[in-house]
Amino acid sequence: MLDLTYDAPAPRVIQGARDDWELVIGLEVHAQVASRAKLFSGASTEFGAEPNSNVAFVDAGMPGMLPVVNEGCIALAVKTGLGLKAAINLSSAFDRKNYFYPDLPQGYQISQLYHPLVGEGEVIVDMAPGIARRVRIERIHVEQDAGKSIHDMDPTKSFVDLNRTGVALMEIVSRPDVRGPEEAAAYILKLRQILRYLGTCNGDMQNGNLRADVNVSVCRPGDYERYQETGDFAHLGTRCEIKNMNSTRFIQQAIEVEARRQIALVEDGRAVVQETRLFDPGKGETRPMRSKEEAHDYRYFPDPDLLPLEIEQAWVDEIAASLPELPDEKKARFVTEFGLSEYDAGVLTAEVEDAAYFEAVVTSGADGKLAANWVINELFGRLKKDDRAIGDSPVSAEQLGKITALIKSDAISGKIAKDLFEIVYTEGGDPERIVEERGMRQVTDTGAIETAVDEVIAANPAQVEKAQSNPKLAGWFVGQVMKATGGKANPAAVNQMVQQKLGL
Ligand code: ADP
Ligand code: MG
Repeated sequence: MLDLTYDAPAPRVIQGARDDWELVIGLEVHAQVASRAKLFSGASTEFGAEPNSNVAFVDAGMPGMLPVVNEGCIALAVKTGLGLKAAINLSSAFDRKNYFYPDLPQGYQISQLYHPLVGEGEVIVDMAPGIARRVRIERIHVEQDAGKSIHDMDPTKSFVDLNRTGVALMEIVSRPDVRGPEEAAAYILKLRQILRYLGTCNGDMQNGNLRADVNVSVCRPGDYERYQETGDFAHLGTRCEIKNMNSTRFIQQAIEVEARRQIALVEDGRAVVQETRLFDPGKGETRPMRSKEEAHDYRYFPDPDLLPLEIEQAWVDEIAASLPELPDEKKARFVTEFGLSEYDAGVLTAEVEDAAYFEAVVTSGADGKLAANWVINELFGRLKKDDRAIGDSPVSAEQLGKITALIKSDAISGKIAKDLFEIVYTEGGDPERIVEERGMRQVTDTGAIETAVDEVIAANPAQVEKAQSNPKLAGWFVGQVMKATGGKANPAAVNQMVQQKLGL
């Protein structure tokens, strides 16, 4: 296990016209459950399908239809809770949140207000190597997504696509423990990473698979500590909620401008009004969307179509036993098992597919550090150049493992290894066979090296004289021999032979 010492939160301080202000941020992250069917129907959740083709009668709010809870979605939400070290509530319930919207044909959203499936947990957020912060999770509830209204396809009409209606979401609600824009971005990325490791959400932010409502308030230094001591929110400022953000860059910008807007208001003697706002990236400002509604505005009540959700501890234990190794544990293991730096281990574990690839390289190769070097510097660099994902890397982990094994056993030099990598990348093939067939094996045979050194020395008497009075020039001979052997001579052996022959 990782020995994590949490660093005291470092609040972002903004200087107003008169005072210093600190930021307080809490996030509600909506993560789409990685299920192929919807929460209460068997309709498909496939992204990008023909509009209104993945809609069951219950999704369309047809009278007389009854929702049936999808056990797979609940299992994934429980898994998520366990991955966030959260309490799982064996007894939870679904509530109706009533509101009208054209893309919500039922006239209500089925959610969990009073008794969520998952209780308190935590996310450890890495800010830099060795610096980690703890953000408490308040709850995770399971709910339905709404459909999509499309207003930009026709100048006079709006369209509704119900494909997304009824897709399962997990709303992951944090405590207001995030203290600055960078921390907010790092929190979302860490959460996304954990969900992807768990396989409970695919975390594709561009497709709205993971999106966040960001609550922002400002307070005077000392107020947050008073809130922490007493748990009394009255010590904090009034919050505004910035809705539906799906880019960490925009989240940071939005927090910054929203905090400055609130500071200007308060310093001007006016009050922050609790409301829902939208961020306009073009204008770089937030603007009101609707005044903040309270729970009672939605006339929440327990959904009479659904029984309370009772799950058994044995089932939870079974899911707990199936949890994969999570990012923090994997990173710590990479450091101890392979002797990697924390930075490299962080790079290799950022995406679960990268970590798996790296481990497969080590399995067919020889050395963890060497493998890390090649994955990070050569492979990632090359893939990036071609804008390819690790999933369609032309060099398989087994091939790269063989390349590193050839380096490790001194069969090829590091320089030749780069040529070999390029051949495998563009043409494919078995690295060992390529080395044999194309005569790329490193020359360690001292006889052959001696001959090459002798030839270079014989051909350059003037250089020999110079090198003998200035030993630094011996490097020139090493370079010539390497050139003459097509880069295949072992550089250390050449260097030694040159020194010896020149009598240095
Ligand atoms: P609602 O659904 O009304 O937005 P929730 O309880 O679902 O309420 O979420 C409230 C969110 O706002 C939580 O993430 C919480 O941490 C955050 N929050 C509460 N008070 C503040 C505050 N003063 N400043 C910033 N965030 C806050
Ligand atoms: Mg909310």
